[in-house]
Amino acid sequence: MQNTDSRRKTWDEIRDVVVIGSGFAGLAAAIEARTAGVSVAILEKMKTPGGNSVISDGGIAAAGTLMQQKAGIHDSPELMYADMIKAGMGLNHPDLVRELVEKSNEVFQWSIDCLGVKYLDRVDQFGGHSVPRCYTALNISGSTIIKQQLAKVRELGIELRLQTYFQTFIRNVDGRVSGVLARNCYDRKNAESGNDRCIKARKAVILAAGGFGSDVAFRIAQDPRLCEKIDSTNKPSATAEALKEALKIAAVPVQLSHIQLGPWASPDEKGFGVGPGFSDYIVFLYGIVVDPNTGKRFVNELADRKTLSDAILNIGKPCIGIADAKAVKQSGWNIDKCLRKGVVKEFYGLQELASFYGLPYAKLKHSVDQYNRYVENKVDEEFGKQILSNALPINCPPYYGIRLWPKVHHTMGGVQINVRGQVIDLNQQPIQGLYAAGEIAGGIHGACRLGSCAITDCLVFGRIAGRNAAAEKS
Ligand SMILES: Cc1cc2nc3c(=O)[nH]c(=O)nc-3n(C[C@H](O)[C@H](O)[C@H](O)COP(=O)(O)OP(=O)(O)OC[C@H]3O[C@@H](n4cnc5c(N)ncnc54)[C@H](O)[C@@H]3O)c2cc1C
Repeated sequence: MQNTDSRRKTWDEIRDVVVIGSGFAGLAAAIEARTAGVSVAILEKMKTPGGNSVISDGGIAAAGTLMQQKAGIHDSPELMYADMIKAGMGLNHPDLVRELVEKSNEVFQWSIDCLGVKYLDRVDQFGGHSVPRCYTALNISGSTIIKQQLAKVRELGIELRLQTYFQTFIRNVDGRVSGVLARNCYDRKNAESGNDRCIKARKAVILAAGGFGSDVAFRIAQDPRLCEKIDSTNKPSATAEALKEALKIAAVPVQLSHIQLGPWASPDEKGFGVGPGFSDYIVFLYGIVVDPNTGKRFVNELADRKTLSDAILNIGKPCIGIADAKAVKQSGWNIDKCLRKGVVKEFYGLQELASFYGLPYAKLKHSVDQYNRYVENKVDEEFGKQILSNALPINCPPYYGIRLWPKVHHTMGGVQINVRGQVIDLNQQPIQGLYAAGEIAGGIHGACRLGSCAITDCLVFGRIAGRNAAAEKS
């Protein structure tokens, strides 16, 4: 057995709980463990905390909330469960999904009451959710949540160690994870930088190192189509080294090849950018997406991300999302930034839009007229899109267009965990002393994660892992 205590004469430092990663999941775990009264160190390899969480849109999903009740929306954990399982094509681990949906309202409320996160006064519905149940943090940014988590981390006196790179687990002779080998003063530009530190975790280590969307080699190993030519919305730090260390000590890999592409992304900007806001909040809800060759619709725009991304990839080139002025007004969304960056274009007529994108105008006009009839009759006869109660026909200039081409966004796969957040080994036994939460844990979303469910996942399982790690015997 490698990296065991027996090889180590001394520890450089000792804490009760060591958390790897400072995104939503790691910070939630640390807050919960520290609140339970134990000492906690968070190790973060980058110069700034927050991982992908800090650049996210800050959309969180929860069922049965006060905001839904006020808006007259009937929802329940059962309905959210059914939506997640449907999108996940049944690959989701049912007990984990059950835990997530049942705790979704509680964790959303916790973010407000305990962390002080403020949300926009609206409840949105994204593809694959059968009712509006998504709440967006103020400034439409995950940084709003991360800022509040970091404030709580400071208030509780939790140690947050930046530029500290987790290298490997250290285990007892009986296989229990007893600590980590990390590197202080690490600089990402120099792989060999920093000094080794052995940090003992008296109670447990919590792995919250995020997904591997930017690890091109590792993602190609899982899905060879996802080479460097496919852009990603993730930060460059979203790499697989921590996950690989868990696999080395026999953690079960779950569904690693299920890598989500964001169908709302535009090839006309790098990374996540500003276009997804226009696609998700306006085009998919109130507009249409057409095939650039035929000017025809080809998919239910409110389908889950996998269905939509696969449909666009099948067309083989960027497709065109279209909405009109009424749709923008109806969404309550501000698209100035999208227009300024040139990702969304404005047109005074459909013909002008068609000629800019090289679409056959007559066919496009036919598609729009046909869709408008579906809106009036409240039934999409072609693709079964749910026509929202406030949807209006697309006929009010200016018209807006966006080119859509999917980008790697989320890695659904990761290590297997149980509902207590413990990492499971190849014999289906918990690896003693090791917990995981957030994007590095697999099986929750199955084949496809629904929009806004990752933040719920990170906060629910981060808190569970933190609480259970703190309760371990020293
Ligand atoms: C642009 C974008 C927008 C998104 N918007 C939403 C949204 O609105 N709603 C939603 O539900 N989901 C959204 N997601 C997905 C969601 O943000 C992520 O799934 C979530 O933030 C993952 O959180 P995490 O804590 O698991 O990992 P991260 O937030 O990625 O944190 C992991 C941390 O671990 C650190 N780390 C990694 N390896 C090591 C190591 N070896 N040593 C030390 N530290 C290490 C990383 O540097 C990082 O800081 C979005 C994702 C992106 C990229």
